[in-house]
Amino acid sequence: MTATSRRLVLASRPTGMVDGDVVRVEEVPVPEPEPGQAVVRVRYVSIDPTIRGWMDDRPGYLPPIELGAVVRSGGIGEVVASASDRYPVGASVFGMLGWQDHAIVDEGEAGAQILPDGVEATSALSVFGVTGMTAYFGLLDVGRPAEGDTVVVSGAAGATGSIVGQIAKIKGAGRVVGIAGGPEKCAWIVDELGFDAAIDYKADDVAARLAELCPDGVDVFFDNVGGSILEAVLDNLALRARVVLCGAISIYNDRDGAPGIPNTFELINTRSRMEGFLVLDYVDRFLEGQLEMFGWVAEGRIQHREHVVDGLENAVDALNLLFTGGNSGKVIVAV
Ligand code: NAP
Repeated sequence: MTATSRRLVLASRPTGMVDGDVVRVEEVPVPEPEPGQAVVRVRYVSIDPTIRGWMDDRPGYLPPIELGAVVRSGGIGEVVASASDRYPVGASVFGMLGWQDHAIVDEGEAGAQILPDGVEATSALSVFGVTGMTAYFGLLDVGRPAEGDTVVVSGAAGATGSIVGQIAKIKGAGRVVGIAGGPEKCAWIVDELGFDAAIDYKADDVAARLAELCPDGVDVFFDNVGGSILEAVLDNLALRARVVLCGAISIYNDRDGAPGIPNTFELINTRSRMEGFLVLDYVDRFLEGQLEMFGWVAEGRIQHREHVVDGLENAVDALNLLFTGGNSGKVIVAV
């Protein structure tokens, strides 16, 4: 009997939150490697807000996922069959493996990377992976905090934001304020991660709290959320502030219906810079960020947490946690 493998393909384009009709489970034969390829048994997939954007039929920094194609995502797995010297059987690899039990990796430019021994797979998908590198390069290269600066982060209890705030403290920010949803998340970032203050955007008037907590204005804003939170921060900028547009999760489920930001004029008043950022532009420099991050984690200066959801069949629910705020830490599906 031929061994089979599950894969989740995009069955229809979502409107709003992703529901069960958007993906379809298919059973296919386990693939065989061709020369230069290997078959990977996928163990973990990374669940990222950007997957929701790839499901829309609109141009972006990567093409949309085609209908009928496996849902694209990063992942980590083990080589189980190989016709490639680069990917020996038993090696752990990271690559764009997708929502499936088995993936093919090849030696081409978009091939997978071998994971070094001793790095836990879940950490490799979070603090040492794309998430950690997003925080590192977005804050340091685009936000460029100076010693003593006031740094504000939205999505502050999330995978990326929680690391941004901690790096800002390490780099000597004078005050780090996180914006997050709910008292538990706000307490976590202050009590455990060392943020100076938190704003619960679900309960507080964000603009008013920013004015209280950042009386000299916000020097660096690392934005994961967009929408009304971005608007509130623009009203509280310091002179020559840097606004890092990393994400806009508040609008991903309804990009066409999202209202505009009415107060971009504040960038002129304060002579500030607002810049979009894409971590993929920094792949060639990941080692630099990873080495520094390894040190900080080893020294206990950066804490990270992962929210692991069991079962490939629960990938849609896992994705939706990002939009309900039901996640505590980097969302990963254990396939
Ligand atoms: P995450 O922060 O771990 O999870 C998403 C969080 O967003 C949720 O926990 C929720 O936290 C918050 N959220 C959801 N809807 C919201 C809303 N309407 N208003 C305010 N907050 C809301 O996810 P992540 O993977 O680290 O991604 C964070 C952001 O970084 C996303 O915008 C993502 O697209 C972006 N990103 C960008 C790049 C890049 O290269 N530019 C790379 C990676 C990630 P609360 O409970 O606090 O609401």
